[in-house]
Amino acid sequence: MGKVTGFLDYPRKGPPHRPVPVRLRDWREVYEPQSDDAVQVQGARCMDCGIPFCMQGCPLGNRIPTFNDHVYRSHWALAAEQLFDTNNFPEFTGRLCPAPCESACVLGISDGPVTIERIEYEVAEHAFANGFDVAHSTDVRTGKRVAVVGSGPAGLAAAAQLVSVGHDVHVFERSDAIGGLLRYGIPEFKLEKAVLDRRLDVMAASGVTFHTNVTVGASATSLGSLRQEFDAVLLAIGSTRPRLIPVAGAQLAGVYPAMTYLEAANRAVRDGVTSPIDAKDRHVIILGGGDTGADCLGTVHRQGAASVVQIEILDRPPNERPSDQPWPTMARIFKSSPAHEEGGERQFSTETLEFLGVEAVTDITVRDASSGDSHTMPAHLVLIAAGFVGPELDDLELASELFVTPRATLSVDGDWRLTQLEGPGPVFACGDAVRGQSLIVWAIAEGRSAAAAIDAVLMDTSSVLPAPVAPYSLSW
Ligand SMILES: Cc1cc2nc3c(=O)[nH]c(=O)nc-3n(C[C@H](O)[C@H](O)[C@H](O)COP(=O)(O)OP(=O)(O)OC[C@H]3O[C@@H](n4cnc5c(N)ncnc54)[C@H](O)[C@@H]3O)c2cc1C
Ligand code: SF4
Repeated sequence: MGKVTGFLDYPRKGPPHRPVPVRLRDWREVYEPQSDDAVQVQGARCMDCGIPFCMQGCPLGNRIPTFNDHVYRSHWALAAEQLFDTNNFPEFTGRLCPAPCESACVLGISDGPVTIERIEYEVAEHAFANGFDVAHSTDVRTGKRVAVVGSGPAGLAAAAQLVSVGHDVHVFERSDAIGGLLRYGIPEFKLEKAVLDRRLDVMAASGVTFHTNVTVGASATSLGSLRQEFDAVLLAIGSTRPRLIPVAGAQLAGVYPAMTYLEAANRAVRDGVTSPIDAKDRHVIILGGGDTGADCLGTVHRQGAASVVQIEILDRPPNERPSDQPWPTMARIFKSSPAHEEGGERQFSTETLEFLGVEAVTDITVRDASSGDSHTMPAHLVLIAAGFVGPELDDLELASELFVTPRATLSVDGDWRLTQLEGPGPVFACGDAVRGQSLIVWAIAEGRSAAAAIDAVLMDTSSVLPAPVAPYSLSW
């Protein structure tokens, strides 16, 4: 334990946010780094609990009290060693995770929890800046070949694990760039793409081969051919089929699924051009009050919309934990993201009735669920961020033989992540394709579990990768 009285002496303090008027003029990340002294003080708040509930809350089982203590003592290399041992990409989770570990932190019962997520960010950035190991590597070559289909955090974590024990790993991605939702879903102001590229350079240097613009199943590369060419195939194809809102006018121009809008915006930022779906000077409606909606909101602000309203069909969550979601669960409470600090209006308990317009949308009619009153608002651009309904399987020629669950996700054999596809060449699956749209931390955990299962099948008794993580059940 760092400082015995740390949790009494110091309040929780997160990182500074760049001022709103400044950050709205660019696409750079919202948060700024903290000084080493400030991070050490936050590490000192950790009580090194006998039963560290934070670790139970983390799908990766990160050794949180251990690296908190190292940070308090300014032992950054030791902290990095602990962190990278259980988490392949803390530079992503340290920026993007909703931190179920913090919801489970014991200090959170009576005070602000330890700033675990930001400590993770700082440890990862110290590691890159100081040349510490940020990936495990080996000179061993097993002669086994693994194909990973999909390059989101699940596929990337599996690839990083498999190459670290000497397998020849090839990642196939249908898009023109590697990264999955990290690349074209999550906006630059949450994750600068240079951070993703830095990690991909590490992976390429460690021996992972990336193939872009290859849609497995809808190109010369079929799932069948991968099964013949490789010793194992892993499907990490995500869960990106959008849930649409089937009301009148949904076909009008100007109504888009959130991912169509976000992908166009991310590409435009990369290329330094105006997005083909630009919010500038338009009245924008975002349907969906979740994180994807908030990502649309921050993007709309930066494109210079005339107005923006974010509409949520559910009631406004309470400010405090409700009694049916006690500590240490990840409770559904009212949250504001940095995008909400930047402007826009939020409406809860509001149902969408109709999109109005001749060819393009001009207005939207909604109804207040509690009063039953309806009203019409201007809408020149409507972004539907109502969630996702499973993986896109149309391209996979063997889709009809892949078992799917009632939630339309891929069915796998428990911790072994093995699909029921018959014939030679085992096919595994992991990530959102199995869980449904989830979190980066879960995608990494799933990728690590799948890699361990594949290694065990390929290497039999000489498998060395850590066993699949336990199915932690505290939060998600
Ligand atoms: C807008 C948005 C913002 C988010 N923000 C956060 C956040 O802040 N924090 C957080 O924890 N989570 C966030 N999430 C969720 C998180 O991004 C996902 O849970 C995570 O990316 C899932 O990883 P994955 O590897 O399973 O799938 P994905 O990241 O979806 O990657 C799947 C990849 O497979 C590829 N693919 C699919 N089919 C084929 C095929 N036939 N051939 C070749 N390639 C194929 C796809 O092109 C894609 O690149 C967000 C999600 C969205 C949509
Ligand atoms: S639960 Fe919180 S205070 Fe306890 S060990 Fe984990 S981070 Fe530290």
